[in-house]
Amino acid sequence: MQEVVKSVVILGTGGTIAGTGPDPERSWQYRAAQLTVSQLVAAVPEFAGLPLEAEQVAQIDSKDMSWSVWQALGQSLKAHLARDDVAGVVITHGTDTLEETAYLLHRLVDGRKPVVLTAAMRPATARDADGPGNLRDAVRVVLEAARRGVGGVVAVLHGRIWAGAQVRKAHSCALDAFDAGGRAPLAQLDEAGQWHEAALEWPASGHAGWEVLNSPPPRVEIIHSHADADGWMVKAVLAYGRQHGPLKGLVLAGSGHGTLHQGLEAALVQATSMGVTVWRASRVARGGVSRREGDAFEACGELTPAQARVALMLYLSGV
Ligand code: ASP
Repeated sequence: MQEVVKSVVILGTGGTIAGTGPDPERSWQYRAAQLTVSQLVAAVPEFAGLPLEAEQVAQIDSKDMSWSVWQALGQSLKAHLARDDVAGVVITHGTDTLEETAYLLHRLVDGRKPVVLTAAMRPATARDADGPGNLRDAVRVVLEAARRGVGGVVAVLHGRIWAGAQVRKAHSCALDAFDAGGRAPLAQLDEAGQWHEAALEWPASGHAGWEVLNSPPPRVEIIHSHADADGWMVKAVLAYGRQHGPLKGLVLAGSGHGTLHQGLEAALVQATSMGVTVWRASRVARGGVSRREGDAFEACGELTPAQARVALMLYLSGV
């Protein structure tokens, strides 16, 4: 029997990788989400002859990421990952909220096939555009992962593979903008886009399935602790929630190891007595927040506050 050649599906959602501007030397002057994913694919010479399919799922600056885009992405992923003739999926994304989408998908997929997010820090028209190289690497990683039988959600950026559950934007403008909160990348890519960590396993996926995306998400907001944080913001969201729909959860972006101002603590205790679930993350870049005896609020481990918000939405949805 002839072996089926499997495709890589590339789902476009916008971002700087699809951005254009008037001057190749002034890479900060551009608009995100201008080129279609088919145009991004056509700009990579190494793709000639490869079995690729491109599909535009959204066309946004990822600062505007929303549940409805995640719903569209989920539907598309569900359909393509179920196909026998698909090796895996690449998602082109903006860098700003990539960590949220990556974490969400990590929790939902079953890990049988590779799902690789990629992005760029420079628009497609910049002299030093990093999008084509990142997209090329992402496709190579899907093909190699499928060959090795490895699956799950990762991000491929600037020559490294990051775990979807850990990756986060750590620099606002450098080309090398991502890390994993102090954890090492899963692998480093060589010139040919290969990685040599022989027995590399990607972290186990969450297997939660796509169902959760069918309903509107529970309302979860993020509150920061800082000097003078006296609970004013918490009281404001509780009051607003009483009028416009219930607030279900709050993630604290705490100082240090998830510590919080005493005024803020009193307000959060009041929120929990009103049925709001409060979880504790940290505004600190590395180390996260682990559970300790006597904690008033659940700790979010190494998740960023934005990822912890996704985790709390899933928890409140029964996932
Ligand atoms: N604001 C852009 C976005 O997140 C930034 C980027 O893609 O680098 O879509």
